[in-house]
Amino acid sequence: MNTDVLIIGAGPGGIYSAYELVKLRPDLKIAVFDAGHRLEQRRCPIDGKKIKSCINCASCSIMNGFGGAGAFSDGKYNITNDFGGTLYQYIGREKALELMNYVDEINMARGGEGTKLYSTAGSTFKKICMQNGLQLLDASVRHLGTDKNYIVLGNLYNELKDKVEFHFDTPIRELQVNEDGTFRGIYDGGTVDAACCIASVGRSGSKWMEKVCEDLKIPTKSNRVDIGVRVELPAVIFSDITDKLYESKIVYRTKKFEDNVRTFCMNPNGIVVDENTNGIVTVNGHSFEDPEKKTENTNFALLVAKHFSEPFHDSNGYGESIARLSNMLGGGVIVQRFGDLERGRRSTQSRIDEGLVRPTLHATPGDLSLVLPKRILDGIIEMIYALDKIAPGTANDDTLLYGVEVKFYNMEVLLNEHLETSYRNLYVIGDGSGVTHSLSHASASGVYVARRIAEEEES
Ligand SMILES: Cc1cc2nc3c(=O)[nH]c(=O)nc-3n(C[C@H](O)[C@H](O)[C@H](O)COP(=O)(O)OP(=O)(O)OC[C@H]3O[C@@H](n4cnc5c(N)ncnc54)[C@H](O)[C@@H]3O)c2cc1C
Repeated sequence: MNTDVLIIGAGPGGIYSAYELVKLRPDLKIAVFDAGHRLEQRRCPIDGKKIKSCINCASCSIMNGFGGAGAFSDGKYNITNDFGGTLYQYIGREKALELMNYVDEINMARGGEGTKLYSTAGSTFKKICMQNGLQLLDASVRHLGTDKNYIVLGNLYNELKDKVEFHFDTPIRELQVNEDGTFRGIYDGGTVDAACCIASVGRSGSKWMEKVCEDLKIPTKSNRVDIGVRVELPAVIFSDITDKLYESKIVYRTKKFEDNVRTFCMNPNGIVVDENTNGIVTVNGHSFEDPEKKTENTNFALLVAKHFSEPFHDSNGYGESIARLSNMLGGGVIVQRFGDLERGRRSTQSRIDEGLVRPTLHATPGDLSLVLPKRILDGIIEMIYALDKIAPGTANDDTLLYGVEVKFYNMEVLLNEHLETSYRNLYVIGDGSGVTHSLSHASASGVYVARRIAEEEES
């Protein structure tokens, strides 16, 4: 099979590359391959009744397929250079923001209209944070919600399906460079040759990406891993913050170790969910726009970044080992009441049942101090008390902590300012490049590269 542009991965990065290429160069033949299912076939078997926890499906419907890891996400598009990736370091701050706003416009025109755009600009909350040793990062946040995000994806697919050749359940096993400088993707039962290739394989494709870089001798540098817990508490405790800002990124510098602990992925009235990355079960969160799906709880992660220096390079391996430990002790995710953690005892089902917070995820009651390194756990406990000052009740005994939450980062691939590797016409974008870690940045990187390819092919 021959094509002009081969896109590997149909997550936000791949989708927006295809979208922009179709718009600018409808004459080009574009093929998108994804290891996962088409959107409507993506269904996680966990139903909370018969199947309560992850059964390690061959293709994880949460992470793989049209829409990528973002398909069932909360659909929070953070329009900012302050977090979500370092795209701005390659393309400039202004360009990065312009592209994120462009993606927002497209989403609004495809089912997202009417959703709220929150902003930290002019918020008095910034001052309150500062007065309590916390830093609120600046951002505008478009909250599509899981349900609207799904509608937008469905509309994008319908628009693209007749203009782009989609191949689902077809992982590209190997990527080769042909003698004439074109690229060959090898999949089960065939090959695809292309003049230009965009690899957008996300977090689930991190090992594949590492292997490609190793085979093609593309330099990479190891990155960081973020480790922590997901906090779940009654929504009213955080409502002053979430009503105004929806998602707030708050950073706290611990007194004990001077480590930064930050809030991440806040889900007002949401649910806590399992996440399976390469067979390791960690925790994450969602929330819905649909009022009927809202819960009485809010959840968010508290994460500590770990960077490693010589001689250790495998930061993701470190995170995986900690997650494996929780899987070993709890058979999956562990949940603990904050009061039990502080008293140095495990949580039991009856202690959780007697508590005021109804867990939204079925997890194994246990002891997170047996899983998380002391330094990380101490930082998280300090941060909970700091948050208690701006949202009293955060440090209540019944606040639930789920562990572990691990944010894996891909190795950073060495790229030029066009997000192109040392091979001409081989682009690496989205979370798979290590440059982005969010829906908005990954999507923006797709548009950016598509524009470059459209220009190059023209000249
Ligand atoms: C539960 C959850 C909630 C999240 N919530 C948010 C949020 O609210 N806001 C936010 O900004 N971010 C959120 N994120 C992160 C966000 O989803 C990612 O940053 C974003 O999806 C990255 O886009 P991407 O296109 O780079 O990669 P991905 O979305 O990961 O897509 C990569 C695609 O490549 C495919 N693939 C991998 N390897 C191969 C291969 N060899 N051959 C073919 N296909 C391959 C995969 O199947 C996948 O579909 C969330 C993530 C999760 C898991």
